[in-house]
Amino acid sequence: MADQTRVTLEQSEMPEAWYNILPRLPFPPDPPLHPGTREPIGPDDLAPLFPMGLIGQEVSTDPWIDIPGPILDIYARWRPTPLQRATRLEKALGTPAQIWYKYEGVSPAGSHKPNTAIAQAFYNKEEGVTRIATETGAGQWGSSLAFACALFDIECKVYMVKSSFEQKPYRRLMIETWGASVTPSPSTETNAGRAILDANPDSPGSLGIAISEAVEDAAGREDTKYSLGSVLNHVLLHQTVEGLELRKQLEKAGLQADVLIACCGGGSNLGGFIFPFLEEKIERGDGLRFVAVEPASCPTLTAGKIDYDFGDTAGMTPLLRMYTLGHEFVPPAIHAGGLRYHGDSPLISGLAEHGYLEAVAYPQGKVFEAAVQFARTEGYIPAPESAHAVRAAIDEALRCKEENSAETIVFNLSGNADFDLAAYDAYLNGRLESEV
Ligand SMILES: *Cc1c(COP(=O)(O)O)cnc(C)c1O
Repeated sequence: MADQTRVTLEQSEMPEAWYNILPRLPFPPDPPLHPGTREPIGPDDLAPLFPMGLIGQEVSTDPWIDIPGPILDIYARWRPTPLQRATRLEKALGTPAQIWYKYEGVSPAGSHKPNTAIAQAFYNKEEGVTRIATETGAGQWGSSLAFACALFDIECKVYMVKSSFEQKPYRRLMIETWGASVTPSPSTETNAGRAILDANPDSPGSLGIAISEAVEDAAGREDTKYSLGSVLNHVLLHQTVEGLELRKQLEKAGLQADVLIACCGGGSNLGGFIFPFLEEKIERGDGLRFVAVEPASCPTLTAGKIDYDFGDTAGMTPLLRMYTLGHEFVPPAIHAGGLRYHGDSPLISGLAEHGYLEAVAYPQGKVFEAAVQFARTEGYIPAPESAHAVRAAIDEALRCKEENSAETIVFNLSGNADFDLAAYDAYLNGRLESEV
């Protein structure tokens, strides 16, 4: 029999509750603060922006939160996602390590993001919300939320970072195909957008700016709520279906991971991947490592400082205690648009601050070199964001080769590159700024 290279779960083995890390943290979490008073905020402060169902999850101390049936029914269209072994990559590297990856690119939007988009649309619908405003970087989040809103019959407005809007017309078309409307950000439709354009008419935009626009839109309309695709506790909560499935898959295959790796923009695919392993991590110490991978051009965890900062550029959101490059930081327009965020999830930041999570940063040339090696051995073409995790997994495997150590490396392949091939065009034809 061939070695096992693919571990799947039955639909009946899908997790039926999300894993809430908040009550299990080995350190006290830092509360979000009101931007005016700098006092901890309460549920009422968030009510103009989010439905109560999600606000409740943001602060919940229940260790498990049941996944409502209608969400499970939709998850079942592509979940559980497969865990696969990169045997051909292992061979090409000559490593004694095993390299496994969980593939989230099988969702309709091509990434992990629908795991929370579906949940967010559900809770908004339940409370009668008819319109949602959001921002998107690379277009992965905007397309995921547009998909979710289509299934729940909610109007969706997406402010898309201008550099991505121009680089990625196909993501915009996906968003429009699912019935949402897209505006390049900074736009002239909001005060926040107009202020940026006054100062710099050629601004490429950033997630921080687009968030300001979407928050302003939602705060100014009775029928509209705001939705965020990463960073917040409830978003990472929804993503824990990844790590919960992975735990079962590793168990089924008789494997114990030595290192878990994921790319980190705001931290949602990483959090969802590693949180359910927290107890195991505490027990095994350095025997189980968590690794976050970020771009050298937006090195939040590796070069930022931990402090209270705004989530957006205009300073309208609550203050979050997180690793940050400063809310006015505008990263260069690298191809991994989904990793261009100045801050990070407070939960992820806390894990890093207290020594549970390591971080590495790579320039995009090294990232695309790894992505192409992965594509030419394993076949799947990684999203530019996910390619950061591929880079780190390859480097871990090369370290294992040097140390002659047969470790088990598991990384999250958070999405596919179906609509990001322009980035590969730039790389393959020598037009990619590789040192950035
Ligand atoms: C958005 C995105 C990311 C980055 O967001 P996180 O919240 O850090 O996970 C990573 N990979 C893909 C494919 C994405 O679309």
